[in-house]
Amino acid sequence: MTTGPSTSAPLSLTTPVQFLKGVGPQRAELLAKLDLHTAADCLFYFPRDYQDLTDLQSVAELEPDKLVRLRGTVVEIDQRGNYTGKSRIGVLVQYGEGAAADYIRCLWFNMPHMRKRFEHGQQVIVSGKAKKNGTRWEFSHPRVQWLEEQEPADVDRKILPVYGLTEGLGQLPIRRAVQTCLEGAAGQLDEVFPPDFLAAHNLMPLREALPAIHFPADRDQLERARRRFVYQELFILQLALAVRRLKLQVDGSAPQLEATAKIDARIRRLLPFALTDGQEQAIKEIAADMERPYPMNRLLQGEVGSGKTIVAMYAVLTAVAHGRQAAIMAPTEILARQHARTLGKLLSESRVRWTTLVGGLGTAERREILRQIKQGEVDVVIGTHAILQEDVEFAKLGLVVVDEQHKFGVRQRAKLRQAGQAPHSLVMTATPIPRSVTMTMFGDLDVSTIRDAPPGRMPVKTYLADDEQRDKWWAFVRKKLREGRQGYVIAPLVEGKDDPDDDRASVMRTFEALANGPLEAFRLGLLHGRMTNEEKEAAMAEFATGKTQILVATTVVEVGVDVPNAVIMTIEGGERFGLSQLHQLRGRIVRGNHPGFCTVFAKPGTPDGLKRLEAFVASTDGFELAEMDFALRGPGDLLGTKQHGLPPLRIAELVRDAAVVEEARADALALVGQDPGLVKPEHDRLRKQMFKRYGQVLELGDVG
Ligand code: ADP
Ligand code: MG
Repeated sequence: MTTGPSTSAPLSLTTPVQFLKGVGPQRAELLAKLDLHTAADCLFYFPRDYQDLTDLQSVAELEPDKLVRLRGTVVEIDQRGNYTGKSRIGVLVQYGEGAAADYIRCLWFNMPHMRKRFEHGQQVIVSGKAKKNGTRWEFSHPRVQWLEEQEPADVDRKILPVYGLTEGLGQLPIRRAVQTCLEGAAGQLDEVFPPDFLAAHNLMPLREALPAIHFPADRDQLERARRRFVYQELFILQLALAVRRLKLQVDGSAPQLEATAKIDARIRRLLPFALTDGQEQAIKEIAADMERPYPMNRLLQGEVGSGKTIVAMYAVLTAVAHGRQAAIMAPTEILARQHARTLGKLLSESRVRWTTLVGGLGTAERREILRQIKQGEVDVVIGTHAILQEDVEFAKLGLVVVDEQHKFGVRQRAKLRQAGQAPHSLVMTATPIPRSVTMTMFGDLDVSTIRDAPPGRMPVKTYLADDEQRDKWWAFVRKKLREGRQGYVIAPLVEGKDDPDDDRASVMRTFEALANGPLEAFRLGLLHGRMTNEEKEAAMAEFATGKTQILVATTVVEVGVDVPNAVIMTIEGGERFGLSQLHQLRGRIVRGNHPGFCTVFAKPGTPDGLKRLEAFVASTDGFELAEMDFALRGPGDLLGTKQHGLPPLRIAELVRDAAVVEEARADALALVGQDPGLVKPEHDRLRKQMFKRYGQVLELGDVG
């Protein structure tokens, strides 16, 4: 039963969905699960997909390997399986009627759950590439869209919206509710952009875009409507990031730490090599930030092995030269200790005092370190997240360096800022992140990029191998070890279950197999997360000094670890790693002046897995790989907005919409430059939207 006020009652944006024609209390409850409470919510519930009934092909038009879309009816479903769990689902789809009917077959391998999604008589759109098998066209793993019975009002529509649903709710009621709101309430919405802004940025006005995003007349109109909302979403976000950046500059006061000529000369005397142009440029930008009276907020980006550490050390020593403390935070203890060693070497002749602060220290030891930090008896603290703990108080913190923390988002950085009295901060990352993601995750930071590599770097050759090539590979490894080089063997698991695949992926089994087999004659070290701190530190030190020749490890060495003499990398269970992770691992062997060799043993398994491994072999460009990784994994994974504490995006996708991200960012910066407080009346709505969505998470202050 649907009840409520007369259906002719005028709608407003705040009308509860329950009172929409055809909704009523029961459906309203279902809509509430989708967070749809009012007419306005429905208007901005964007379709997650569309069913495009334009340009459909007929069976007669099929050609091998051409991407096509057909509409038909499910007439037969069969499933074959065998005892190993391998299965095949076949769905026969009828195209056309009666004597003119043709049939195509759709196949899915090892996806038994597909079975449940088909029923006889369903209307579907099948899209994919067909192959001829005998006389019949076959599609393997096509994309399928299920058509619902259409509303009489819809029969002329060629592109239909597909909304995210909840159990018990079909497409039709949502389509109807949205339609009602478009007719009755959309006219009451105000445009957020000033009219000349719309024109200048080629944006469809809201009044046109809203009906078009739900019920587009054609593909072109849909694209333009989508562009408008994607732009709006990204623009508001970039506006918030730009305002935050400005606010950090205006609000915070920080010590002015100038790298005077004297300080500069003193630091450079300590450096063991001449800096690359990229390093020089980064240092220049950092020094310019640190001499200003407000906190530096800078991201230092650079490929693995580009030499970011030394740039950070320059900043650290500048702070120390001014009598300030500096903190360096690394994602792993192994990396923290490595930084401590690097710093120790640089400072062997100086009076700078430094300490390491990691988890798992004894109570007394930790208390003593905290005391020294608080009393200002140490100048540099190198550590892990342990530095963030509440009881860590610095006497006069001037600089915080955060290394390799791509998951260290806006929120966590805010925490660090509260840790001291507005220190300068430098965030470093080698994790290649697509530019559009960087501009979002680190959009409130200034960016320095090191594009060149230290001189004399040799290329790395990468191979994808199977078990038959093992003997040959280990023979090659033995040869390199005899020449004096070192290498890593990486396995994803510590210990496997009783499964042959797990065995190969287990660091323990791998170690045993190598030590009693192909690498018997060599000195092997073992490193994994279940060892104690002392054991890990010892294993790493033995490898760094060359005492062990091969380090068999889990991904604890994934980021940052720097042993230039190690140039051979063997990766076991390669199918279990993501593309960016593989690239990071390979980054361990690009650090010296000998060519590197990386071999991945893998069981590709899925087509995506194979694509990933082939991409890894084909490219050593981290940014290219990162974009591919994002494309393969889909949006929202790993570096999704959630990770850095921002609300999820509703319509934009950072990788697909990368060009719009760039555009929105440039436009947002220009607008904030022109009207920093967004106080002009024509910016009123933009400001309100920005505060509503990001005011709290980005600590933008009071709703102005
Ligand atoms: P990343 O940018 O990945 O953190 P590191 O700072 O660990 O790279 O540097 C990688 C290696 O290159 C280290 O062994 C470092 O000593 C060396 N290195 C850095 N800069 C230079 C340079 N300008 N000339 C020669 N070697 C350098
Ligand atoms: Mg590093």
